[in-house]
Amino acid sequence: MQDPSAHDAHNGKLFIQTVGCQMNELDSELVVAALRKHGFQLTDDITSADTVLFNTCSVREHAEHKIYSALGRLKYSRRRRPQQVIGVMGCMAQKDQKLVFQKAPHVDIVVGTGQLSEIPGLIEDARANRGRHMAVSLARRDATRQTVAASFESYDPLRDPEMRPSAFQAYVRIMIGCDKFCTYCVVPMTRGPEQSRAPRDIVQEVHQLAAEGVKEVTLLGQTVNSYRHTEDGREYRLADLIAAFHDTPGLERIKFVTNYPRDMGDDLLQAVRDLPKLAHYLHVPAQSGCDEMLKRMKRGYTVADYREMMQRIHATVPDCAVSSDFIVGFCGETEEAHQKSMDLVREFRFKNSFIFKYSARTGTKADAIMLDDVPEETKRRRNVEMLELQTEISEEDNAERIGREYDVLVEGPSKTALKSADGEQGPLTQLTGRTRCDRIVVFDGNRRLTGSTARIRIDDCTATTLIGSIVTREFQHAPDGGLPILS
Ligand code: SF4
Repeated sequence: MQDPSAHDAHNGKLFIQTVGCQMNELDSELVVAALRKHGFQLTDDITSADTVLFNTCSVREHAEHKIYSALGRLKYSRRRRPQQVIGVMGCMAQKDQKLVFQKAPHVDIVVGTGQLSEIPGLIEDARANRGRHMAVSLARRDATRQTVAASFESYDPLRDPEMRPSAFQAYVRIMIGCDKFCTYCVVPMTRGPEQSRAPRDIVQEVHQLAAEGVKEVTLLGQTVNSYRHTEDGREYRLADLIAAFHDTPGLERIKFVTNYPRDMGDDLLQAVRDLPKLAHYLHVPAQSGCDEMLKRMKRGYTVADYREMMQRIHATVPDCAVSSDFIVGFCGETEEAHQKSMDLVREFRFKNSFIFKYSARTGTKADAIMLDDVPEETKRRRNVEMLELQTEISEEDNAERIGREYDVLVEGPSKTALKSADGEQGPLTQLTGRTRCDRIVVFDGNRRLTGSTARIRIDDCTATTLIGSIVTREFQHAPDGGLPILS
């Protein structure tokens, strides 16, 4: 890492807007941390910013429209601030490349997901020489897998604790890219080939985070349970990696997202059962409940395979909460196929599901060879139907928990509390946290409880939230950082 003092103390104000998944949130956190070391000051006022960055997502059309609209609005602010540098980074930058400059000619820099370390230099170049500056990775068809992989660099510099959204929670990237090539998905193109980071580096990062006070880490990968890396002659899968840092003192909870159904091995499920810091929660997207659709999506499993995986999850970790993703209105989805997806939601009663209307993405196989033949209105109706069904199930599932007690890792004032003067000033306010099964709980308490584990009795619920009250204020922790002891 370069010495911050070697750079200008003041590089002006930086505004960054992030859309998309946790991987993007982590990228933004790391880019901001790097830029702060170069003398940039973060602002949430876009109109006064000297540098504006958009960290973009290409998974859905809507996310791209949002960014192009925001860029359109900046055309006028740029006239007022001719020195302003405007940059587009992330998945849409990698996917659209020069098209970004065509659609938004006032953009100065376009940076793909594999070149984030170049951002400080590119901003400097854009200031010195007006014009277009672009750094992107090779396309998957442009070279061998190895060469393309080398053009996607995992961006994991030293962390800056001040830049984390929460002082005691952190994302840790364990792999980048994807090789599954689901026919609807741009990620294999925008994030490149699947590459797992070395266990040694990940363990070191977790140790550092825990030493800085982080209590919960969420491991990130597009297909996180496909993790595979050979180090010193030993092959590490996800379960081995987690075991390698599980006992880190201070660390209390470990989560990992997103899982790929076909790679849900028994070793990982046994780790979830046996390692006390692992959350009893798995996000495993099903995407459809119809074999024909799964085949068209090239998901690599059938409904029977998914069912077998769910049986293994529940047999190994009986209280494990499972959430899912679904795409409605994919190419060729009949009413019967849609009803099969609805049946799957009924059968597995997911904790929650993220439901998306299909939209064709340039560069994908579905866009190239399939007809986007489900009318928009039908997609909308199926989306609403599935959402209503899932909401009903989530509420019933939450209602079953009323009267029970849970250990809740307290995340801080709830969104509602933050909006009111209460959340700003405290001390007694509405707090939010999560159970080991990743269920959201709100309750009244002192904001000093943030980062600790509290025992909460559930009194009421909505479809998304458990509402409770404190039973025991805090846990004492064993000196070795092991299991909490009830005080
Ligand atoms: S597994 Fe499929 S949906 Fe998930 S990132 Fe890879 S290609 Fe996309």
